[in-house]
Amino acid sequence: MKFPVEVLEQAKNREKLLEILINGLCLNCLGRQFGMLGHGLTNAERGKILREFANKLNKSEFKEPDVCNMCNNFFKNRIGKIANSIAKKLGDIEFNTFLIGSIISREVARRQEELWERIGIEDVEPIKSEINRELGKILEKLTGKKFDLKNPDITIVVDLDTDNIRLQIRNLFVYGKYQKLVRGIPQTKWICSRCSGKGCTFCKGEGKLYPTSVQEIVEKPLIKATNSKSSAFHGAGRADIDARELDYRPFVLELIRPTIRKLDLKKMEKQINKSKKAKVTSLKLIKEGKYIIRKLKTDRIDKTYLAEVEFKQDIDKKKLKLVKGIIKEPIIQKTPLRVVHRRADKFRKRLVKAISYKQLANRRLQLKIRAEAGLYIKELISGDDGRTKPNISEILGNNVKKIKLDVIKIG
Ligand SMILES: [Zn+2]
Ligand SMILES: [Zn+2]
Repeated sequence: MKFPVEVLEQAKNREKLLEILINGLCLNCLGRQFGMLGHGLTNAERGKILREFANKLNKSEFKEPDVCNMCNNFFKNRIGKIANSIAKKLGDIEFNTFLIGSIISREVARRQEELWERIGIEDVEPIKSEINRELGKILEKLTGKKFDLKNPDITIVVDLDTDNIRLQIRNLFVYGKYQKLVRGIPQTKWICSRCSGKGCTFCKGEGKLYPTSVQEIVEKPLIKATNSKSSAFHGAGRADIDARELDYRPFVLELIRPTIRKLDLKKMEKQINKSKKAKVTSLKLIKEGKYIIRKLKTDRIDKTYLAEVEFKQDIDKKKLKLVKGIIKEPIIQKTPLRVVHRRADKFRKRLVKAISYKQLANRRLQLKIRAEAGLYIKELISGDDGRTKPNISEILGNNVKKIKLDVIKIG
């Protein structure tokens, strides 16, 4: 048998064992100081074997101390009670996996440090990791859920000094694609910046600047079904508030602190799609939420737009042919005047990949434009006071009165 004979053949380990026994530690705390040895045993089992071995060897009678000088009988008396309070706190929250993190008292940390200064830290296991593991085992029995180090639904943080229990619930990520069928609603909820959503005279007490948004339409049934606190909406780019998005645009809705994790997404889709303003498709729960969000944010996909432009004067038919020449060189754009108050004023260089047109009336032109991600389309048409060059208005020698924009293809 390897444990403990082989371990204790070394004189330093015998000294170490004796030192611990003299100090009056419980079996858990004793076994833990040899925690990296004797694979497959619990620390309490290790402790028992070691104490019996030492008693035989030294003809001594080390007994279980009334109060452990390391853990204050935590493993004997308190651990079960704490597991019970955690189970109570978890209540009706729906989850499959959990992780436990504990904060030990300064006093216990100090005692552990002092012991390690005398016996060394070779082969020891810290008390924190035994507490987390043993609490986890009890909790697995109490709840029928699984301990999971990698990607737990809930992380339970126990402060052993104050008995305070905190639950960190992993957010749920729903991937999908949306269409915005009307003009005038933003992609995400636009919180009033003057009152940060509290409600003020500027936002007429609403806390937001638009009555609804794609986010609010999509999140509504999902927040309700998962009993989440709120949501964060991550779109693969976004169109202007007054542009429709007629092709499906990918997004991830992050549900914050859900206490229900099972979702009937077909049903959710149906409820969302009752809206006349936005529609969704392909909803699915995803595990690698953060990764997909990063990908959505960095993938640079071409977009195709349909613009209906009204000019101030009649369109010059001879100049119209020149419009196609715009694909030859990159478009240089300074940050548009309409957003420069909230974004850095700098240059941007993007390509128009294809353009075609159809004259609808003397002053009305339809443009179909395929552009690299990030090109400001309205400014490409209007010229934005010379901040975008070249531009359609300049080519036609005609000022723009109004633009109606639709995104008709993404990718
Ligand atoms: Zn102990
Ligand atoms: Zn406000």
